[in-house]
This record gives sequence, C-alpha cells and structure tokens, in this order.
Amino acid sequence: METLITPEIMSALGISVQIFLGILLADFISGFFHWLEDCYGREHWPVLGPYVIEPNIRHHSRPLDFTRGSYLFRNRVVLVLALLFTLWFWAMGWLNPFTLTALVFGSQANEIHCWAHMPTAKVPRWVQFLQRAGLFLTPFHHWRHHRAPFDCHYCTVTNFLNPVLDKIGFFRGLERMIWIVTSKSPRDRKITV
Ligand SMILES: [Zn+2]
Ligand SMILES: [Zn+2]
Repeated sequence: METLITPEIMSALGISVQIFLGILLADFISGFFHWLEDCYGREHWPVLGPYVIEPNIRHHSRPLDFTRGSYLFRNRVVLVLALLFTLWFWAMGWLNPFTLTALVFGSQANEIHCWAHMPTAKVPRWVQFLQRAGLFLTPFHHWRHHRAPFDCHYCTVTNFLNPVLDKIGFFRGLERMIWIVTSKSPRDRKITV
C-alpha cells in the first residue's frame, strides 16, 4: 500500500513548523526587549534613550499616541535592525523559513502592537482575522500589560507566549538574577531578599 505521507508533504510540514517557530521566536524577542526597556531602560542613555526608551515610556503614559504617527516613524528603529540582521544572515547563509519568518514578524512587532491599540474600525480586516485567530496580539490580551501592576504580558506579536512566560515567572526569574549579580532592581519595583 502506498504511503500517504509523501516527501512533498513532509517538506511542507517541515516548513510550516519552521514558520510557526519563527513567529514564536519573534514574539519572544519582542517580549524580552520590551521587558528590558520597561524595567532597566533609562531616558538619558545615548542614542537608545531618545530613540527607544523615551518613546516606550511615553507609550505607557499615553498608549494611543503612537497609533497616530506614520508607519515609518513608528517602526524605523526595528526596520533598520531587521534589515541589518537580514543582510548579515544572508551573507552567512543563515536565511531559511525559520530565520526569515522571525525577521519578518520581528520587524513588524511594533506594528502588530499598534493594531492592538487601534479602534477596530481602523484595523484592516485581514489583521482582525489574524487577531481573532490568536496569531496576532489582541487588544484585550495586550491591555493586561497596561494595567497595574504593569509587570506582565510583555510579548507584542501573538497571544501565545505571554501566558506561558508569566506562568513560569520567566521575567521575575531574570530580574532576580540581575539583582543578584548587579544589585539593580527594575525601575518601578524593589527586589528584596
Ligand atoms: Zn511595557
Ligand atoms: Zn501597548
């Protein structure tokens, strides 16, 4: 009897798994850097201060402001980084469905975040569809990040990783490790023994 699992199906499955893992990696990286900015970023840092930390702090006090700017203004830092990484990966021969997906979704992490703040009427239909499917961050899910105590749901690409990372105390563990090594607590919280 002929097997139904052909090499083509195996190949398509393999690519699908790589794409899914690439999306999860982009989600994780978005959460990791968002957490770093929220907890340890300082506005007076050179370059990063005015271009990354200050807009991030402003987003938490006035969350809708960044939805009113242009796509390029909102995403300029991440787009430049994604382009540089894409060129580096291409030069090294590291581009594949996994890394390419991570780069594409990572480059759009802030835009996906922005859609989660926009009024539904302004969000493209295809984005609403992906939000409903849980593949893109949803407004309800992300709003938990903007509620006191403002210390969870850092990932801004999907709804998948936040519950897992919060449940296992991933960021609290990192904060404790940083505190043990440097005696530094996150900006708004004091770590004690
Ligand atoms: Zn935040
Ligand atoms: Zn937000």
